[in-house]
Amino acid sequence: MSAGLADEILSRIRRCLPANRSHALHEPQFAGKEREYLLRCIDSGWVSTAGKFVDEFEAKLATFAGAKHAVATVNGTAALHVCLRLANVAATEEVVVPTLTFIATANAVAYCSAIPHFADSAESTLGLDPGKLEAHLEAISETTEAGCVNRLTGRRIKAVVPMHTFGHPVDLAPIARVCRRFGLALIEDAAEALGSRYHGDHVGNAGRSSALSFNGNKIVTAGGGGAVLTNDAAIAAAARHLTTTARVAAKWEFIHDAIGYNYRLPNLNAALGLAQLEQIESFLASKRALAARYSREFAGCPGVRVFEPPPFAESNYWLNTLVLERDDPAQRDVILEKLNSLGIGARPVWRLMHRLPMFRDCPRMDLSTAERLERCLINIPSSAFLD
Ligand SMILES: *Cc1c(COP(=O)(O)O)cnc(C)c1O
Repeated sequence: MSAGLADEILSRIRRCLPANRSHALHEPQFAGKEREYLLRCIDSGWVSTAGKFVDEFEAKLATFAGAKHAVATVNGTAALHVCLRLANVAATEEVVVPTLTFIATANAVAYCSAIPHFADSAESTLGLDPGKLEAHLEAISETTEAGCVNRLTGRRIKAVVPMHTFGHPVDLAPIARVCRRFGLALIEDAAEALGSRYHGDHVGNAGRSSALSFNGNKIVTAGGGGAVLTNDAAIAAAARHLTTTARVAAKWEFIHDAIGYNYRLPNLNAALGLAQLEQIESFLASKRALAARYSREFAGCPGVRVFEPPPFAESNYWLNTLVLERDDPAQRDVILEKLNSLGIGARPVWRLMHRLPMFRDCPRMDLSTAERLERCLINIPSSAFLD
């Protein structure tokens, strides 16, 4: 039975992909001016944390993402850390994050000496479930002079960080409403979602700030890199300051007015990132075409479906996802073995955050949907094929 389904899935995936080669889950494509810009950057002598490629990359990014400001950082985790610091997330406060996410979301909270508070995901988006979040906060929190307090732990709940899973936009409007109701800062982990839109607007603009990633496996890569997006000039200025070691302008002295971070993106990485960003429309077109092929190919396939985002979403389809009907990790693993052994890169989702040893004792709500999704989801090859 399982082997039958694995064979069925294998042949349907193969019909969607270029033939006669193996396929990683996501590979970068360098079809633009990457070499030219990198050589120009080296020849300019400006390879480190300042230079014109950083300025151009930030400007192009802000325009593309529909945000007033973009501040480039060494990676997406650093961008998230800075977003949280600038929301004044402090030691012993709690921050709501989905348990179904990449480790960076929870780690960034821990870097602030704050505590992740794990939330469940909605089946329809694979991201934070707004209805469940609201019911949970109603049940466990009280609004005091100090803000929203978790009655079970006595700690303040400060912020909510929804994540756009595999590039599919989370349902932002009701999450923003819950944040307003309970006085919580909204910060988006948009690391996977460059090019994704929610009701027509680019994601990353619903709250105070958001974080993007340009790691090698993301839709656009700078080798490594990230960015803080914000529409608030004061937050942008503070992000720039905090990520450049909190150095203040001075003629030649080194003067710092806070404990900052060395988190700025090197010009060399920005050169690669800029050349990549110039190709985003063709990457998106290619990824959406692949998603449509998967969707057609799997229509009516018993036992499995392709995850389809809701109508409010215009996804970048960073990673295409199969949803197995049967909640059976053994069956999932047979399928993963089969695909990978034949050169088709396929992965289960991340081990859920609340099941990792360092986050096991963190506060949480009922996480039953994420727990089921963890056993039923498989990511399949999703690179932008430009040929
Ligand atoms: C990639 C990613 C990040 C940031 O990762 P970096 O490797 O630090 O750039 C953050 N959150 C999520 C959900 C991600 O997928």
